[in-house]
Amino acid sequence: MRQRQLALSAFLAVLAAAVATTGAVNPDHPLLRNKRALRLNVPCIANGQFYRNPNTDPEKVRNLSECAKYYLCLDGEVYEFKCSVGLLFDIDRQICDFKSKVFNCGTHIQLTTPKPLLDTDEPICGYGEYACADKTCLPSELFCDGQVDCYDGSDEGWCDAENDPNAAPRCDYKNCTLPWCFCSRRPLWGPLSGRPLWGPLSGRPLWGPLSGLSQDAHFGALSRDAHEVPQVISITFDDAVNYENWEIYNQLFTDSRTNPNGCPIHATFYVSHEYTNYQYVQKLWNDGHEIAVHSITHKGPESFWSNNATIEDWFDEFVGQANIINRFGGVRMEDLWGVRVPYLRVGWNRQFIMMREFGFVYDSSMAAPFSNPPIWPYTLDYKMPHKCLGTGQKCPSRPFPGIWELVLNQLQTGEYTCAMMDQCPPLPDDEEVYEMLMHNFKRHYNSNRAPLGLYFHTIWFKVKHNMKGMQRFLDEVMKLPDVWVVNNQELIQWMREPVPNAQLNSFEPWKCSKTVPQEDQACNIPKSCKLRNRAVRGDRYLHTCYECPDMYPWLKNEFGVDL
Ligand SMILES: [Zn+2]
Repeated sequence: MRQRQLALSAFLAVLAAAVATTGAVNPDHPLLRNKRALRLNVPCIANGQFYRNPNTDPEKVRNLSECAKYYLCLDGEVYEFKCSVGLLFDIDRQICDFKSKVFNCGTHIQLTTPKPLLDTDEPICGYGEYACADKTCLPSELFCDGQVDCYDGSDEGWCDAENDPNAAPRCDYKNCTLPWCFCSRRPLWGPLSGRPLWGPLSGRPLWGPLSGLSQDAHFGALSRDAHEVPQVISITFDDAVNYENWEIYNQLFTDSRTNPNGCPIHATFYVSHEYTNYQYVQKLWNDGHEIAVHSITHKGPESFWSNNATIEDWFDEFVGQANIINRFGGVRMEDLWGVRVPYLRVGWNRQFIMMREFGFVYDSSMAAPFSNPPIWPYTLDYKMPHKCLGTGQKCPSRPFPGIWELVLNQLQTGEYTCAMMDQCPPLPDDEEVYEMLMHNFKRHYNSNRAPLGLYFHTIWFKVKHNMKGMQRFLDEVMKLPDVWVVNNQELIQWMREPVPNAQLNSFEPWKCSKTVPQEDQACNIPKSCKLRNRAVRGDRYLHTCYECPDMYPWLKNEFGVDL
């Protein structure tokens, strides 16, 4: 299975490269060279996209072999393609995928919305207005606000960061200063950082001409100054926390693995609801790990999160899950800072409107294109500093001041790059796992020291040599005096107030002297509530230190009240 997914993604990468830059397919691409044009009953639809035959017999439209065929028209000639056995063509995502993920066999063409008339030689509309594709003038703020206002839908059809007329502007360094604003490509210290040149405690400059360190403005080139910057390793886990994966956490987070200040290392858990054991969630939180939100349902198809989820859905899924974690896992509401969208499918502006309204502090769902040096986390006050990566991915276009993006830098493994560890090609033994982790660690540690993210689904650890390689890696890097494994909340606390290595032992947010108050402590023996819910088939167990609800908590009923 793994093999085939890799083969598929390699093929898709080639195909994507053929369509890349211009959005149109390059007719000279090797994939097309040995394709013969068809003299079939398939019309030419030359919109630069793959399509299905609109003349297919309506009886056969949902037939699997028809759904696996797709066409491309170039210079008036139609080329036929077919997905590999077992795969169907997804017209929206323009890729072949497993049957369970394709829902549009009945659609023959990807709908394209006409473009609004924003830049015309002669202005069409008055001040403060823009023109729809049909020349209707509407107030500018209605464009890309998530609701269709033009008759032709053109106000909402072109809303990525490049096309949204209300898009966030490029970073204005003068008006972007810590702790509340940070543009990724700027130094944390020094004249260009907006922070004083003199270190707050050391009494000597941290950076700049008097410090003896380089004054290179580009944070990416700070390698000579990097010894002042701690190397953070951010370990995260996605999905349910339960008995299936509990032992994995126990093996990784042992008493002997500590940060340079002697405190235990911490991870971040993006918790989805179904099958989660909330006593375990509470224990993790008690131990200083961060609990973050990964939706209630984690439902598919993946494109739901980018395309279909309304602002109300975002609230139901994410604020709902925050409520469940708080009610049944005892985690304090003010400690729930982060979200990660299922399948890393960013929800455009709608997701971030929900985050702003609820008060979430950060998102960690966006992957950046592979880069050396890697990218630092940033706030969304201004235009994001990298491309929105992925087919059909919808990054926010508007500004969201003060909300952090803990961007996922990709790992490099052989010729592949991958954001989640379990998307990387499998490695044959613990030696190679260790080498791969070490290679990526060095790419960060020896350049700009952007946090190194290691993003896991626990399934990756079910392979024994993966666990062994990871443990060896951790033990090795934890010997370094300037390497810290902290959770994302702790990382943001440091980014808001970046103190150099020499002062980190007294950095308050990374200390572990606080004791957990009695009322927040997880119980030893939880209640095991056997619960029904019409939305999930069969019964579910909910393990919690608090009272059992009447029903299994779910969307719009997160406290499980029998209605
Ligand atoms: Zn997930």
